[in-house]
Amino acid sequence: MSVKVRFAPSPTGYLHIGNVRTALFNYLYAKSQGGKLVLRIEDTDKERSKTEYIDQILKDLNWLGLHWDEGPDVGGASAPYEQSKRLDFHLKAVDQLIQQGHAYRCFCTPQDLDVMKEECKKNGQPPRYDNRCRNLSEDDVKQRLEKGDKAAIRFKIDEPELTFEDLVRGSVRFDLNLFGDFIIVRPDGTPTFHLAVCYDDGSMGITHVLRGEDHLANTPKHILLMKAMGFTPPQYAHLSLIMGKGGKVLSKREGAKSLEEYRKLGYLPEVVDNYLALLGWSAGDDKEIYTMEELEKAFDVKRVNKSSAIFDIEKMDWLSGEHIRMLEDDVYVQKALDYLKEQNCLSESLKLLPLDEIKSILLIFKDNITRFEELVDRLTIYDPNAPMQDEFVLQQEGVSQIVEAVKSYVESVADGESMDFSVLNQQLKESVSKKGKELFLPLRVALTYRSHGPEMKRILPLLKKDLCLDRLKKASEIAG
Ligand code: GLU
Repeated sequence: MSVKVRFAPSPTGYLHIGNVRTALFNYLYAKSQGGKLVLRIEDTDKERSKTEYIDQILKDLNWLGLHWDEGPDVGGASAPYEQSKRLDFHLKAVDQLIQQGHAYRCFCTPQDLDVMKEECKKNGQPPRYDNRCRNLSEDDVKQRLEKGDKAAIRFKIDEPELTFEDLVRGSVRFDLNLFGDFIIVRPDGTPTFHLAVCYDDGSMGITHVLRGEDHLANTPKHILLMKAMGFTPPQYAHLSLIMGKGGKVLSKREGAKSLEEYRKLGYLPEVVDNYLALLGWSAGDDKEIYTMEELEKAFDVKRVNKSSAIFDIEKMDWLSGEHIRMLEDDVYVQKALDYLKEQNCLSESLKLLPLDEIKSILLIFKDNITRFEELVDRLTIYDPNAPMQDEFVLQQEGVSQIVEAVKSYVESVADGESMDFSVLNQQLKESVSKKGKELFLPLRVALTYRSHGPEMKRILPLLKKDLCLDRLKKASEIAG
């Protein structure tokens, strides 16, 4: 049997970490099994679905490299892939369910249902529809429809219990006595999520459904419904939720951001893929850094963990730095430049530098950043318009001697020639009494206007003499 999975987002918002992981696991499962991935847009909620969200979902998935084989933009044998365009199929399937005795019309009003709920509560039972409209006669139904009464359509649950094998959770059993017959078409004539998802999974030949555990309680309904429609139910794998530290609901600050926000923060797509793959899955060894190709081979749904995964931004940052280091130098430079241009955060003065110079500058930071956004701040070292930071360092006693000594070195460098830290270092040793951090921290602040950055021996050759002299002038005004 060849594997066919689907990612079925509702375009009622942007993709966030949770549904991106669902998309990723489906993609990886398809790849690891030589199967296919379908992208289906579940846009039946007319009020909340927006085209702008659909566009962004497609853009995000493409950015992550999660390419699909069938979908709204690429078409496929089961088109259309927007659920809203499949209404006729859904209603036809419902007619058949009614004809075969699997479904029936229910005229209960919201008030009737409220009374039923109260009854259950009084008897200490969970709320449940009591299936009363099952027994309406055909004539009754006909008359009430002719009268214009609105009816929902409900699916009959006859079995007392249902057990299925979840690929993540193992055997899961449900007591169906707790379930009333459930609605598959609302009184306004629109099919519910249960009907649409089951018909679409069945008619598209979906073999495996990997989705969030928030859908676990729907699965018995889905299995029964699919069987009644004549489909073989897929195998299900319910993925545990992603939680924040301490097992709490993931907050926005901690990580429940949209994917677009991660892109803005300068994470590479492969970092998001790698990190999310580790949220709930591991190959069973210590390996943590994966390329997408490696993930496609290594992923195994049986190794998905059923306890909830904890989102840890520090780990994601660590992985991000590792992936940046893994890039070839020219690829790194290109990606960094693309990022800075896309986010429009290359300062005007840096834009004026020759491309070769910008590239060499970017390379200095390759070992030193965890994500590209950090470059914006780091690059100010080379920006003549950047304001001075960490002034207090220069106010320490004895700093003016250092500033003067550095100045005399910089002045001695011929125009157009690059500076050499080892020469500067040698001269300072001879002319300045301070050593170690007491010497090098003020030196760094005087020349770069900040107290952190890569090694001075890497920074210095690319710093312009004029820029250094300007900075040293200001530094000597402040120096203690
Ligand atoms: N559209 C549903 C959701 O976004 C997915 C349904 C499913 O995966 O079965 O939650």
